[in-house]
Amino acid sequence: MSEAPAPLVSIVIPVYNESANLTALWRRLSAVVAELPNWEVVFVDDGSRDNSLALLRDIAAANARVRVVELARNFGQHAAILAGFRECRGEVVVTLDADLQNPPEEIPRLLAAIDAGNDVVGGWRAERQDQAYRRLASRLHNRVTSLIVGVPMHDYGCMLRAYRRHIVDTVVECDEKAAFIPALANSFAKRVAEIEVGHDERAGGQSKYNLLRLAQLSLNLLTGFSLLPIQILSITGIVIALLDIAFAGVLAGHRLIYGPQQEGAMWTLFAVLFFFVGLLFLALGLIGEYVGRIYLEVRRRPTYLVRAVHEGNSAP
Ligand code: UDP
Ligand code: MG
Repeated sequence: MSEAPAPLVSIVIPVYNESANLTALWRRLSAVVAELPNWEVVFVDDGSRDNSLALLRDIAAANARVRVVELARNFGQHAAILAGFRECRGEVVVTLDADLQNPPEEIPRLLAAIDAGNDVVGGWRAERQDQAYRRLASRLHNRVTSLIVGVPMHDYGCMLRAYRRHIVDTVVECDEKAAFIPALANSFAKRVAEIEVGHDERAGGQSKYNLLRLAQLSLNLLTGFSLLPIQILSITGIVIALLDIAFAGVLAGHRLIYGPQQEGAMWTLFAVLFFFVGLLFLALGLIGEYVGRIYLEVRRRPTYLVRAVHEGNSAP
């Protein structure tokens, strides 16, 4: 009887306008995967407008183990990874960025941590090479994410990560419109580990995230993973109502003892009123957020569209 083949490792890489980095990426990545017994690479072209797709197809044409999923337009990093998850077949799936901020040389360490029995292994960019405001925003983001997912991690934003097949299958099955993959994966994982990984400055090209896109990502995460905001709101409402009853009691007592006062009460009422107006706006915003998400799901639009899957010998 022949031995079972070594388990397949899939490397999934989302690519959006990364032509400046792809040659160097493939040079470094191919040296790393060459050491693995059984591997495949799935590049997902997320609607690039430069010649990334052509470069990727050249790589795939020369390597039978490389495939390129071409999305019909730009759907965003997480949707692109989801498309890669659906296409790949590995027992273990590794994701990384195409801009060489995540050193491909760290992949064997991630795989070793998976072999040690973890379902998900996250990279932790201890020495992060990004602007200060990004690092600050990300610290806040990690605190909140750890809290709502219930799995504490230092670095939810690092996309250099490894997942076992059953986690990938579950994430694909969710097919969420506003998925944040590391958080989604952790919510299904039994054993999760985090290892420190290197982080470099972007090799070429520009970051695809600005402050607005980062804020959108965080809002998605908050509303996508918990009802906590709305629960906090309800509890706050109850507390305020109780305080309000006490306040009314004090006012009534004051009036009984000292008799009616001029003006004073009016300003107090103004303050109270504006407080409630603010609260109402907040409540409407939060309800809108949930309704919006229901709307997104109900429409049943696909999260991404695959136009083609290119392999070495496929026709153009
Ligand atoms: N990316 C993508 N679609 C997008 C935005 C980004 O596939 O709409 C890819 C991008 O090509 C890169 C990775 O996601 O491989 C991370 O993007 P980027 O480096 O811009 O993010 P940052 O490192 O600034 O957080
Ligand atoms: Mg980057």
